[in-house]
Amino acid sequence: MKNKQPHLLLQIALPVPFRRYFHYIFPDNEIWEGLQCGARVRVPFGTRELVGIFMGFVEYSDVPTDKLKPALALLDDNPLISKEIIELCLWACDYYHHPIGDVLLNSLPVLLRQGNPVPTLQEVYWRLTKLGDAVELNLLKRAPRQKTLLGYFKQNPLDISETQLRLLGVSKKNIALLQEKKWIEMGVVQNSPIDRQVLKENQSLILNEAQQVAVSAIVAARDTFQVFLLDGVTGSGKTEVYLQVIADVLKNRKQVLVLVPEIGLTPQTIQRFRERFAVPVIAFHSNLSEKERLNAWYLAHTGEARIVIGTRSAVFSSLPDLGLIIVDEEHDLSFKQQDNFRYHARDLAIMRAHFKKIPIILGSATPALETLYKAQQGKFVHLLLPNRAGDAELPLFSVLDIRNKSLEEGLSQPIIDEMRLHLKRGEQVMLFLNRRGFAPILMCHACGWMALCKRCDMRMTFHKQTQRLHCHHCDLQARLPLQCESCHDKNMQLVGVGTERLEQVLQKNFPEYSVARIDRDSTQRKGSMETLLDAIQKGDHQILIGTQMLAKGHHFPNVTLVTIVDADGGFFSGDFRALERMGQLLLQVAGRAGRVEKKGKVIIQTHHPDHPLLHQLFHGSYRQFATTILQERAATALPPHSFFALFRAEAYQLEHAMDFLKEVKILFQPTDKEMQLLGPIPAPMPKRAGRYRVQLLLQASQRPVLQNFLKGSLLQIEKIRLKQKVRWSLDVDPVEMF
Ligand code: ADP
Ligand code: ZN
Ligand code: ZN
Repeated sequence: MKNKQPHLLLQIALPVPFRRYFHYIFPDNEIWEGLQCGARVRVPFGTRELVGIFMGFVEYSDVPTDKLKPALALLDDNPLISKEIIELCLWACDYYHHPIGDVLLNSLPVLLRQGNPVPTLQEVYWRLTKLGDAVELNLLKRAPRQKTLLGYFKQNPLDISETQLRLLGVSKKNIALLQEKKWIEMGVVQNSPIDRQVLKENQSLILNEAQQVAVSAIVAARDTFQVFLLDGVTGSGKTEVYLQVIADVLKNRKQVLVLVPEIGLTPQTIQRFRERFAVPVIAFHSNLSEKERLNAWYLAHTGEARIVIGTRSAVFSSLPDLGLIIVDEEHDLSFKQQDNFRYHARDLAIMRAHFKKIPIILGSATPALETLYKAQQGKFVHLLLPNRAGDAELPLFSVLDIRNKSLEEGLSQPIIDEMRLHLKRGEQVMLFLNRRGFAPILMCHACGWMALCKRCDMRMTFHKQTQRLHCHHCDLQARLPLQCESCHDKNMQLVGVGTERLEQVLQKNFPEYSVARIDRDSTQRKGSMETLLDAIQKGDHQILIGTQMLAKGHHFPNVTLVTIVDADGGFFSGDFRALERMGQLLLQVAGRAGRVEKKGKVIIQTHHPDHPLLHQLFHGSYRQFATTILQERAATALPPHSFFALFRAEAYQLEHAMDFLKEVKILFQPTDKEMQLLGPIPAPMPKRAGRYRVQLLLQASQRPVLQNFLKGSLLQIEKIRLKQKVRWSLDVDPVEMF
């Protein structure tokens, strides 16, 4: 009998915060004969029952034999987590020092983590009939949903599963209506999806030379591990490169994984892939219900879905025939998970491509310095798209010195004049201000007292919409004080400009035009972002104000003027990455200006018009800008010229957090001169939501030095007594230092 070795113990990964496996007795029961690595099992754990993953057999346990319990149930005949995903998870667990059970179970949809069965294999498939094929779509004008559905069948020559139709948002009712008319019929699955026709009709654009070079290079790397940095300004046609490489991968019967930033996973993005390819495309986005998420997982896991688009967690999707990974906007911060399991999806995607021996494309107009550095070292292939595709031109930049200029709520007169010019021509203008709310400071005019959050000691922002003060760090809200809390003077002033205030001043200055504001507050309701974007595309609004939500991905062809209201924020941050971030954000915003038909203009308001980095950014190139910053990082031995890991601790009493990290530091006495420990010191944001925050920075000149060091000492932390009083975490390769 296969695997029947009752003297062996089961090694199980469980979703608990311990860095180890748990041992259970192998039940003496036929059901367990087919047990395979990656299958789910149900086991007793304390007073609870947990679902875990079977990881292999062991002969001995450090738990006394009479304390060991038998496993309760085997939930899967086939492994749910493939060897490939297990390999990736083991690597991630090792590198980020996160408990293995948590990492493995996180790769599954919640319903499977809870122990629910995988969806049934008896899928219902639908296909077009001859009668349906003969129907003119144009005659269905008055039944738009039926028209869309029939159109979808006409484009897909083969059977479509009901699950796929549901994922496309088709209702059961409409399927039934088409069936009643005998336009579609129920079928059984005949052709495997990989035999599907790949391209819909030939919609590919004729590539320019740089695009051609890129596509050829990536296609030539088929079935080998190779990292490509596709470095091209906004509008240079990176997406077209992705699409043409994908076409090749699909023809070779492989699946494609596309990772996008949280903000980039819009219906338009998904549509662009669905329009081009006649294969099932699924998207993992935050609006999916758990049931839909399970179905999407299942379609990817069985190979039914050929293109999977998703945000960072999609890097763990089960894809048996994976042939290509794309990370779009690879510099984006949302690829880094900032709590609990602190992984970087871009870096894991590279490891996944490495294990699977396939190419991976990192695309960006403003690559992360880490990525650029690897390209400079020759570890990544650097592919450049230096110009905008087609006939579109790059926008014209001008830096506007606002020192000593009078500003009306943050806006200078030249900006107002320029706006009027563009608006009169019937064009749209966009203003970028990365500060939501009305005013970021409420200050006493008599004594200078400022309203601070009681839980964070940080300034609170006044929001006009709610007429309250909001803390942007912990979401605490408070009433507007009628008088100063320090000197009781009643003259309280709102200082500074947020998006709400900008909206107000623009409405006053341009009463004949409509203003749209896009920030987290104005897009809170589900679907409101889409509605706003639609209205902007239709031209209902002429003046657009936005925070960084507006900076990424969206395409506004009629915007010809972009104003960066305040370019000074990044110059004075404590985070050594602030300048890099600021440059990336400013260029991303600028990239919204004038794409195909109209040349755009970008105006940057600043108090530092002579800052050399601003010049390099706007009159040179991102690469010059990046090279300068990289040189500074080299001189100061900061990443990517060294490697960081950050211990964070939070506690209601400062000493607890401080003493805890002091003990950690003692545990970690480095023997290697290549290794430095800095701290513990209060975090740049020393208090949040009532907890004091302290950090201890580990810095090493080589990655392996840091890793060996952590491996040797991490388990000891479990023994520190103060552990009960603090919340602590370890962040390997932190992207934010707060
Ligand atoms: P990016 O992803 O780099 O921002 P896109 O791929 O979205 O750029 O391309 C920007 C615009 O240029 C799109 O409207 C696209 O259709 C067009 N485009 C891309 N490649 C070409 C090409 N080779 N010829 C003509 N137009 C192109
Ligand atoms: Zn006062
Ligand atoms: Zn707060």
